[in-house]
Amino acid sequence: MIRVQIIACTLPADQTRALNRESGRVYTETLVHHYRVYRMAGKVWLSPRKHDRVLKAFCGPSFLHAHSYQAAQQDFYEACKTAKALKSSNPLARYPHKRTFFHTTTWKNTGIKVVDGRMRLALARGHDPIWVALPEHLATLPGTAFRQVQLVYHPATKRSCWHITIEDGIVPQPTPHTGIMAVDLGEIHPAACTNGAQATIISCRALRANAQHRNKKTADLQELIARCTPGSRRWKKLVASRKRLQAQTDTRQRDMLHKVSRAVVQEAQAMHAGTIVIGDVRDVADNTKTNKRLSRENRQKISHWPHGQLRQYVTYKAAAVGITTELINEAYTSKTCPICGHLNKPKGRHYRCSACGFVGHRDTVGSTNILSKRTTGKLAQVVPCESITYRHPFRRGSVVRSDKRHVAGASQNPHLVLLSVNDGRAGWEESPRL
Ligand SMILES: [Zn+2]
Repeated sequence: MIRVQIIACTLPADQTRALNRESGRVYTETLVHHYRVYRMAGKVWLSPRKHDRVLKAFCGPSFLHAHSYQAAQQDFYEACKTAKALKSSNPLARYPHKRTFFHTTTWKNTGIKVVDGRMRLALARGHDPIWVALPEHLATLPGTAFRQVQLVYHPATKRSCWHITIEDGIVPQPTPHTGIMAVDLGEIHPAACTNGAQATIISCRALRANAQHRNKKTADLQELIARCTPGSRRWKKLVASRKRLQAQTDTRQRDMLHKVSRAVVQEAQAMHAGTIVIGDVRDVADNTKTNKRLSRENRQKISHWPHGQLRQYVTYKAAAVGITTELINEAYTSKTCPICGHLNKPKGRHYRCSACGFVGHRDTVGSTNILSKRTTGKLAQVVPCESITYRHPFRRGSVVRSDKRHVAGASQNPHLVLLSVNDGRAGWEESPRL
């Protein structure tokens, strides 16, 4: 499977800047030369291959490896291709036209060698190569596994890192298990998983806190920016800090989503599932304003909910261990009572049925109904699990044993779900309000 590993770059900042500046120069020269030919030669649109032959004379010598040089040039043509594809759906899409001073440097497999656990990245003849110490899990891979290396600058940290594309040679084998695990993606709890016998809620409050922090701070900065003269020194500073804030929060969110999706796949393995069924929430943000379905606050929550990214991470991580992923229409799964099929509008974290008195965790009701829909074709055919395990994807010791809790009226209602309580540490998970 092809995977991308990100490792920190320990090269001095001057060197990384010089490399990316040189790539930026090649990219910009390609762009300038391309349009100059287009203008002067009567609308001749150069092809990358033809351009390659004449560009060297225009661009001059470079200290980059020949294929790194070519990669910077190809990036311009890739951007043209993307713009062309976007044109049909978005008339505002523009062909690449801006000069860039920095551009990500790419090494193709021809410029990469692995010697004694270190990666050797070639530069042009006469220039010393770059040596990168590899972490243990990469050092043992053969040299042919390394497909591509990129030197990527992160504005959030103001540091660069290596993006290493690896073909690890592992062909995912379909898992022998045939179970089905249903996943209900949620805005508060990123995922609720169940296979009918067990239920786990992956809780990650920090994910939503991160989005809220981003929204709040962006709004504050936006207000200050609006008061400045565009182009002034203060304006530039504020715009830069807004950009940095967004890059920082994006990085945090991506990291958390990777951990949450890892936890989902581990749950699927623990539940011996061969298939993960995910409720399809792709259109959840559609027409929420025009139909006045949601309040302003809820619209903001929904529009910043990264469900697509999470689904994508779960899909590829599951595929790597031989588990298939399916999408299923999740309409009414969180409203229908799993016991009697009555439609209720849940408020807060708990689902209460006004017809039969069933009380349960809202997300588990959703995932149980998804499971019921996938296995029987109908809603409300599977009884939700009696106890729920809360799991935090990255805090230590966060896997909590399910603990039954006595609820008033439980003895009269056999279907009343007993919720787990947390392990006593304050603040890690909201305690059930009953
Ligand atoms: Zn009911």
